[in-house]
Amino acid sequence: MSTDIDAVHPLDTSGARLSIKKPVQRFDRQGDLSDRERTEAAMRAFMHEFGAVTATYLESCIHCGMCAEACQYYVQTGDPRYTPVHKLEPFKQAYKREAGPFALFYRMFNLKPRVSADELQNWQELLYDSCTMCGRCTLICPMGIDIARLVGQARHGMFQAGLVPHELWAVAERAEREGSPLGATPAVFKDRIAWLSDEHGVEIPVDRDQADVLVSMSSIEIMKYPQAIVATAKVLNALNEKWTIRLDGYEATNFGMLSGNVQWQKDLSMKLINAAVKCGAKLLILPECGHAYGAMRWDGANVYGKPLPFEVLHISEYLARSIAGGRLRVKKAAASVTFHDPCQISRRGGATQAPRDVLAALGVELREMVPSRMGSWCCGGGGGVVTIHRADDLRYRVFEIKMKQVDDTGAEMLVMSCSNCRQTFDDGQAHFKWDKTAHSLLELVADNLVQ
Ligand code: SF4
Ligand code: SF4
Repeated sequence: MSTDIDAVHPLDTSGARLSIKKPVQRFDRQGDLSDRERTEAAMRAFMHEFGAVTATYLESCIHCGMCAEACQYYVQTGDPRYTPVHKLEPFKQAYKREAGPFALFYRMFNLKPRVSADELQNWQELLYDSCTMCGRCTLICPMGIDIARLVGQARHGMFQAGLVPHELWAVAERAEREGSPLGATPAVFKDRIAWLSDEHGVEIPVDRDQADVLVSMSSIEIMKYPQAIVATAKVLNALNEKWTIRLDGYEATNFGMLSGNVQWQKDLSMKLINAAVKCGAKLLILPECGHAYGAMRWDGANVYGKPLPFEVLHISEYLARSIAGGRLRVKKAAASVTFHDPCQISRRGGATQAPRDVLAALGVELREMVPSRMGSWCCGGGGGVVTIHRADDLRYRVFEIKMKQVDDTGAEMLVMSCSNCRQTFDDGQAHFKWDKTAHSLLELVADNLVQ
């Protein structure tokens, strides 16, 4: 929607009409709730989140400001609004007023006013556009406050209030309705598998009744990087696994989680869990997708309500284990490589060493970015941010940190194990006309298998 209007500038005596730009609207709305209904819906959802752990986090901040320097948005702009703990202000305000130990006094003397619809709208940019839930602030906080988790909880209230960035809401809704955020429906996926299988002469088993290993995929891979499907098949076939893809449960991305809709998150996770249970899988392999790892590896059992009856591994962990066990052999792949740690797999997930073990087996000289591993900078596209067009300029600014990190290593090749990061890097490469191309760790392995 254009925000330009024609108006006579008050200081212009010529009478000429000038084009004055109104501030760009930084929030979207869903539905036709009144402001009051929106705030009430958000408050109900916030109250649901105020358990013991969340309360402890919200009571513990000592306002040291250390989280600011950890956040790429603050570092690149110097804007205090992007201080991580500030992004939580309405959530914290609601807690203090409605659920904290002194809530009665806060209400009685109106020390913390009710959260207003305006505040929620203004905070939409801070909770979505400028937070990838990367967890860098969480790592640095001396009080151990998991700010990234609190952002995720605050998003639950924003979703109920119908205050989610439009594009993120649209892909989440599409995933709930069609089973995929990018149109990778079962019919489309089945066609792609048939085509890839023919074109590359590789067997890709679909809908086996019984299998030891269930393989999941991300929509980004299916639609944008289909070579990942071929690479996965080559590796599992080389290992003689009894494996399958199932059309009733393959989508590993979880935009329910990113948008803040708890029910959609559950629906998407249960499709995968049910598919694994149906075929008796002992192992569910998650694809090169960061948030998919968090959604299933760490939240899967919570969604299921009991321990998962199968193991969950990210593909990089599976590759590392197979190589370490002598089951998978690879040859030298490149001279020097730098590895981008996807936040949700490395920092939030803890699977930091596995990709390095795989790269060591590939005989490459690993040139680490500074910092790397747990302290790695985010690519800027996680947490659903890459879907939000109005956030593009900000995203490119934070991507500059990453480009410099990569360039400083002087490595020949840039490798990662998350297709969402890869997409963000591809977009950044095109925007900046950068000379570095992002490569997939899985594909590097598949291209260098020793049969
Ligand atoms: S999770 Fe990452 S992007 Fe979000 S506030 Fe913390 S450091 Fe910034
Ligand atoms: S680093 Fe932790 S304690 Fe310090 S201001 Fe940030 S959230 Fe509060």
